[in-house]
Order: sequence, then C-alpha cells, then structure tokens
Amino acid sequence: MRLFREPLVTVIARPQFVEPEHLAVQWREPGSDGERLAEFAGRLCYMSQRNPANRTTAEYLTNILKQGHGSVFEHAVYVLLIEGVSRSLTHELVRHRAGFGYSQLSQRYVDESDAAFVVPPAIQGDEVAEAAWLAQVESAQTSYVAAVDHLMTRYAWVEDKIHRRKLAREAARSVLPNGTETKIVVSGNIRAWRTMLELRLGEGAEREIRRLAVTVLETLRRETPRFFADFELYTAEDGEQAGRVSYHKI
Ligand SMILES: Cc1cc2nc3c(=O)[nH]c(=O)nc-3n(C[C@H](O)[C@H](O)[C@H](O)COP(=O)(O)OP(=O)(O)OC[C@H]3O[C@@H](n4cnc5c(N)ncnc54)[C@H](O)[C@@H]3O)c2cc1C
Repeated sequence: MRLFREPLVTVIARPQFVEPEHLAVQWREPGSDGERLAEFAGRLCYMSQRNPANRTTAEYLTNILKQGHGSVFEHAVYVLLIEGVSRSLTHELVRHRAGFGYSQLSQRYVDESDAAFVVPPAIQGDEVAEAAWLAQVESAQTSYVAAVDHLMTRYAWVEDKIHRRKLAREAARSVLPNGTETKIVVSGNIRAWRTMLELRLGEGAEREIRRLAVTVLETLRRETPRFFADFELYTAEDGEQAGRVSYHKI
C-alpha cells in the first residue's frame, strides 16, 4: 500500500506576458511574467508606463499591496497540480471559491482498489497510532474491493460497462476513509492564492492543509517571489511550520 507523508505540488501553467510595444513600461528590474502583467495592468490605470517614481517591480507591487488594490493581482493565474493529499484536505480546499478553478480525480470513474493513503500529520512518527491507523485503512480498502466485486455482479444486467463500473464504484467509495489520496488541478489568480495562503498558513488551520499551504507558498515563491515578499514562515508551538502575512486579504 502506498502512503503519502507530504504533498507533491507541481506548477503546470503560468502567465505569459506579451508587452504591447506602444505602451512599453520602463522596467527597473527583471520580473516574472505574472509580476509584469500585474504591474502593467496597474500602470495602465494611471498611464504611468514611464515609471515616474522610478520603482522596481518589487516596490511597485508592495505599494499595490499597501493600497489594497488587489484586483490587478487577478490577472496573474498560476495552475498547480496537487497530489499526495487526502480527500478531507480537498474538501477544505475547494471552499476557496473566488478566483479558483478545480478539477479533481473522480472516485466514480477511477478504480480505487489500490488507492494510496495520506498519513495524517498528527500521527506521523507515533508507531502505535500509525499501526492502528494502517490496520483501519487496510480494512477499509478490503471492504471497498469486496463491495465493487459484489456490485459488479448485482448490476451485471447493465449493458454499458462504464456505467456499470460507475454504479459499483460510486457506492463502494462510501467505505473509503477521508485519508484516501487524491489529485487535483487548481488554477488560481494571485489575489486568490494570497487569500487562501493567509487562511491556511494560520496556526488554527488543520495540519495537513497547513502543510500543503507551506509547500504551495514555497512553490509559488520560486515562480514569482515578488507577489509573496510579505509572507513569513516560522515554526509554531506545535513544532510545525506556519505562516503570517503583513498585508491582509487585499
Ligand atoms: C481555520 C479554519 C477553520 C474552518 N472551519 C470551518 C468549519 O468548521 N466549517 C465550515 O463550513 N468551514 C470552515 N472553514 C472554511 C471557511 O468558512 C471558508 O469557507 C474558507 O476559509 C474559504 O474562505 P472564503 O469564503 O473567504 O474564500 P473564498 O470563497 O475564496 O472567498 C474569498 C473572499 O471573496 C469574498 N466572497 C466570496 N464569495 C462571496 C459571496 N458569495 N458573497 C460575498 N463575498 C464573497 C469574501 O470577501 C471572501 O472572503 C474554515 C476555514 C479555516 C481557515
């Protein structure tokens, strides 16, 4: 049985900024396409392409954060493939609506007979708790396989094989635990990612989604650091990483 102890986060799409020659900006430093796109959009509002305040992109974007003009951050969309997370995590993740789009592995279509599972952070390293958890998960997976077998026979009269499988799997999945591993593609604009990260990096957030938020922040920071310069990671009292932000929900 495959077990995940941390999430996998991969950038699968990023913005491509195509600067119009007739409104070229006097850039002072290199920036990611997303950062340039946001700065370009912000400068268009005041037709300040000549950069009269002589700001770097980092300074310009920080000023946007200070002013709370978060709407220009909506132009920069980054798409992440998130794997190695539990169904209970994605149940929380998809509550973030504004500026996000989701596509998640379907348990009706996909056979979960050898699904992987996510070890909850709170029991990791506790041998006794992990062994008990593993036994429960193995038992649930055995029940799932038995239920699919039984229901495939019960619905043998359904001619369409795909439909028959769906009938069996949609019922059988009800015995799978919240810790079943899933995969989800998440597209989000920078304003939305910042809001989600602010909420889920907090010490009050559930541990698995907080751990994911740390990985997402690190991933997006590598891609486009100037959007996240005000985020700070620290070790919380529980020994795990948490994060805080200087400029709240913009
Ligand atoms: C620590 C923690 C514990 C939680 N516990 C629970 C829980 O026990 N039960 C539970 O159900 N949920 C819980 N949640 C989820 C929480 O209630 C939100 O659903 C989630 O954090 C998404 O926040 P949001 O609605 O602000 O995000 P988004 O949907 O992304 O919205 C972002 C912002 O856009 C604006 N907005 C979006 N939609 C609307 C709208 N329809 N009308 C007006 N303005 C809108 C708001 O300003 C909102 O803050 C918890 C969240 C956290 C971080």
